[in-house]
Amino acid sequence: MPVLAVVGANWGDEGKGKMTDALAAEADYVVRFQGGRNAGHTVIHDRGKFVLHMLPCGVFHPGVVSVLGPGVALDLEVFFNELDMLEERGLPEPRVVVSDRAQVVLPYHALLDRCEEERLGEARFGSTQVGIAPFYADKYLKLGVQAADLFFPGRVRDRLVRALVLKNALLTHVYGRAPLSVDAVLDEVLHHSGRLRPYLGDTTALLSEVFSQGRTILLEGQLGALRDPDHGIYPYSSSSSPLAGFGCVGAGLPPQAITRVLAVTKAYATCVGAGPFVTEMHGPEAEALRARGGDAGEYGATTGRPRRMGWFDAVATRYGCQVQGATEAALTGLDALRGLDKIPVCTAYELAGRRMDRFPPAAFLEKVRPVYAYLPGWSEDISAVRTFDALSEAARQYVKTLEKMIGCPVRWVSVGPHREALIRV
Ligand code: GDP
Ligand code: MG
Repeated sequence: MPVLAVVGANWGDEGKGKMTDALAAEADYVVRFQGGRNAGHTVIHDRGKFVLHMLPCGVFHPGVVSVLGPGVALDLEVFFNELDMLEERGLPEPRVVVSDRAQVVLPYHALLDRCEEERLGEARFGSTQVGIAPFYADKYLKLGVQAADLFFPGRVRDRLVRALVLKNALLTHVYGRAPLSVDAVLDEVLHHSGRLRPYLGDTTALLSEVFSQGRTILLEGQLGALRDPDHGIYPYSSSSSPLAGFGCVGAGLPPQAITRVLAVTKAYATCVGAGPFVTEMHGPEAEALRARGGDAGEYGATTGRPRRMGWFDAVATRYGCQVQGATEAALTGLDALRGLDKIPVCTAYELAGRRMDRFPPAAFLEKVRPVYAYLPGWSEDISAVRTFDALSEAARQYVKTLEKMIGCPVRWVSVGPHREALIRV
């Protein structure tokens, strides 16, 4: 498997961290190619539970080199906190290389993110408020700072002077806050630069070389297809593309490099933040599934917020697999569905009395109703099952029916949060 992208087919939190960690056992490089600390990827193995935001989920395998590509939003504070955390918990120091072209999240990005969500009030997007949208906006406004710039404090200063004219106008006139001083921001930005130096490198040259040697590279996506700014539920989307297609850009690999795309999808649906969520359930039904799902219930790995709960949405997932270019799928959280008499699965949408099979833009999505089929449930605990054939007839039928609906072979079924709770189909 030369280059395999592990990406989300849904709204995020599908279990990409778990799948990346499991597959990294056979990989040489694991690369994050977009997003930043707004990711929350949970990995559970014999050393305990880890939630990574900045570091790739390959760090638990001593043979793996972890790479942060040029497409990521590099939050230095979180990056070093995670490295320190791994050391404190007694893990071997991971080998990590950070692209010198990656841009760094600046101190005012989180501040502006919070101010904007506050201004929007009820109409807010449910941002994680760690500065990701302002970061990417600045990148494309050409106001960003690349990691390589940190070697040249004068250059960073010039860039901050230019940026702060605009930021301070916003802060004082729109948000009613105090202006920021160039020197204070500069100090903060340069704070970690000495420690960062040994991690920086030309990851594009590195990956190009190891790719030509046929080494195994995993690309670890953040969030999911439905959060893509172009193909997702705009404006309830993320600010960088979580699609495998962007993986080549954000990691720095040729487009033809990716030969396998593993779309990770949950056996039910969860969603964090605002936006249309067609199969959403409420009340005791949602509470019960939320309590059974995830590693300790379905609560945001980054925010701790209860995740919105829904039934499996085949329309959304088929579309997610399509825009990801999925060659295979992993179905996670099957264990959480135990104890249901019958399990609703959304097979189509209905809009003004008409059936709809495609996943429409958000304007329509907010108006559609789910059409459900009901599949037989099972009552037994399947979390210790390790072969597909050992699953009950109903659980196997559930997997096979979903596989047909999404049009993509399910290669893995995950039956618990632990690394070992995985079935190869
Ligand atoms: P990611 O953002 O896609 O990496 O996913 P998160 O780690 O944010 O969220 C997935 C949640 O589900 C975490 O709490 C995982 O520990 C948990 N999880 C992953 N796979 C399974 C599974 O098969 N069963 C259960 N019950 N939980 C799972
Ligand atoms: Mg997550």
